[in-house]
Amino acid sequence: MIIHLPKHIEHAHVEMLAQEYGALFFVRNDVYVMVTHHTMTELPDALAQMAIEYWAMPTDMQLSSRQYNPTTHTIAIGDTYIGGDGTHQLMIAGPCAVESREQIDQSCQMLINQGIRVLRAGCYKPRTSPYTFRGLGEDGLKLLAEMRDKYGLLIATEMRDATHADKVVEYADIVQVGAKSMYDHGLLQAAGQSGKPVILKRGFGSTLQELVHCADFIMSCGNSQVILCERGIRSFENQTRFTLDLCGVAWLKQHCNLPIILDPSHAMGYAYGIADLARACTAMGVDGLLIETHPNPHLAQSDAPQQLDHHQFEIMYKSLHEVAKSVGKVLV
Ligand code: PEP
Ligand code: MN
Repeated sequence: MIIHLPKHIEHAHVEMLAQEYGALFFVRNDVYVMVTHHTMTELPDALAQMAIEYWAMPTDMQLSSRQYNPTTHTIAIGDTYIGGDGTHQLMIAGPCAVESREQIDQSCQMLINQGIRVLRAGCYKPRTSPYTFRGLGEDGLKLLAEMRDKYGLLIATEMRDATHADKVVEYADIVQVGAKSMYDHGLLQAAGQSGKPVILKRGFGSTLQELVHCADFIMSCGNSQVILCERGIRSFENQTRFTLDLCGVAWLKQHCNLPIILDPSHAMGYAYGIADLARACTAMGVDGLLIETHPNPHLAQSDAPQQLDHHQFEIMYKSLHEVAKSVGKVLV
């Protein structure tokens, strides 16, 4: 159950009530937002006396549910936004990982030439083999900060685990929680307390309910700037890296009040499918795309097969404008 309480109630009193009902709470727009487990279906008397409004919720998809808040959250991204009236599709692009100053600088130049605002690149890579490149760590974050200063791009980068969560929050404009750490509660909490937009990627073995519960973990810390990302789930099919769950995206659009972006790069795993998938995702009217592109994909130290070269990226990006327009969106 979600309960709104007026701000004039003493904090200590709200704390005591929260403890009594096993609830979480935070302050937003001058009200206390208290959330209990969904099995509370009747408002207790002690809360009924002071509640402004309340919502009995059928599941623990609560703060992220359209039953609570029917309009999609608007999330500011620099001088633009996503969500809200749904007229914008954000392009987030860049290499899988920061590898060198030269590589990331070339990536930025391409993005700037295309009028793209958000650079993505990982510095802490969650790899499947311990013997592969795991990212440049803080040196990579410093290069990203350098690029932000030089080009005015916003930086989206991943926190892989709690050992460097603070560092990523310090450097990033948009914090990414990756598919492999969707369930890391330390990271969800760090993302919730970051005060920054968060890209929450769906774990490849996770249900939609599990994804939205993780979104609620972040939102219940008081941060409603959560962007859900579908990046492919594991199915019986193994000719492609993962299976992009577009039915799931339709479900999220229907039931969830958060913007949704799609990552065809990690889903497909091969560069040849990405442009078609990006157009298909755009035709679905999603709020954004996350695409991996590298100045020299064959030299990439991670996810080489799926990264578009800059020429391929530019052709794909150009083709998206018309598709976006046909579903009432503009690319930002
Ligand atoms: C990434 O975006 O570079 C990444 C590691 O993706 P995922 O968490 O979806 O595997
Ligand atoms: Mn990658």
